[in-house]
Amino acid sequence: MNTYKLLTPGPLTTSDSVKEEMLVDHCTWDDEYKSITREICSELLDIAEVDSQEYTVVLMQGSGTFGVESVLTSIPKEGEKVFVLSNGAYGERMVEILEHAKIPYHVYYEEYNHQFEPVTVERIIDEDPAIQYIAMVHNETTTGMLNDIKSIGSIANDCNVTFIVDAMSSFGGMKINIEECHIDFLISSSNKCIQGVPGFSFIIADKQKLIDSEGNARSLSLDLFDQWKQMSVDGKWRFTSPTHAVLAFRKAIEELRKEGGVVQRSNRYQHNNLLLVKGLNKLGFKSYIEYKDQGPIITTFYYPEDKQFNFKEMYDYIKERGYVIYPGKLTDVPTFRVGNIGEIYPEDIENICHIFASFMEEKEHVKN
Ligand SMILES: *Cc1c(COP(=O)(O)O)cnc(C)c1O
Repeated sequence: MNTYKLLTPGPLTTSDSVKEEMLVDHCTWDDEYKSITREICSELLDIAEVDSQEYTVVLMQGSGTFGVESVLTSIPKEGEKVFVLSNGAYGERMVEILEHAKIPYHVYYEEYNHQFEPVTVERIIDEDPAIQYIAMVHNETTTGMLNDIKSIGSIANDCNVTFIVDAMSSFGGMKINIEECHIDFLISSSNKCIQGVPGFSFIIADKQKLIDSEGNARSLSLDLFDQWKQMSVDGKWRFTSPTHAVLAFRKAIEELRKEGGVVQRSNRYQHNNLLLVKGLNKLGFKSYIEYKDQGPIITTFYYPEDKQFNFKEMYDYIKERGYVIYPGKLTDVPTFRVGNIGEIYPEDIENICHIFASFMEEKEHVKN
């Protein structure tokens, strides 16, 4: 099997020591396993820097989308409306979830490379008293756009609506002040910036709002309150848990601590991202997002103007040399994406920039 590093933001490249944790088949019913679950929950609250009287954590089987779906279908009461802000595929996925569950919603669509206008958000809430929730994505992994959750959170707080944030690809990889941003439900997953493997999502929740949602869930397996109620007794998951992923996640948290916590990890990601953007811009790949809105996780680049350019050819060329990049996710303009999270260091970014450069030279895409 050929190995390569993933320049894709989740699943991402994990350390060997995280992978080694999965060589154990762990039982789920004994106290030791339950204490691992409890330890993970308390570590997550610690990483989130929230008050454990006010906030709590729920782990939920499945990928990140299961966590988002769990929140969106468990929290609103019947008839309450969710206001979705969408400027990418993950915002659109929230809309799909609400559509499936027949939960009333309103969407404010923005261009994929634009921030949401706070005045528009305010106006829509003012005009529609049925709106009880704002839901949005923090780092839109579709493009790499970093959405301003602070100003929207402050509107949510002023208007007394619950604020739901998909921080899937940012939590653990950058500082998020949950209380200052007035976030009531934050969703992330095991295989993003904490650098674990895929298997579950987790939700950091305002405890009172979670308790108040009892009985609202539309789904049995994704019932957020029931999952929490069971887990909060002694750390037992309601249904079979992804044991290998849980053990790997505990190790990943330990390694996040060793690295120096979220601040140091965030510095590494930002440094990676800056090197990447500079390196590829120099080769003539223009960034899709303006640098002021660019998050430190993933970057979208336009194809070069050269008509001969073939993405598949470049993808294979890079993969043969040990790295995997991502196709773009925009419908209107041809782009590709490069992530820089996971066990990726400045040496990797330098390598990848050289590989891009030699591809461009070999294919004579470089203008003389
Ligand atoms: C990864 C990701 C998700 C979840 O996707 P899954 O494929 O279900 O893990 C949701 N939102 C964002 C912003 C993401 O980056």
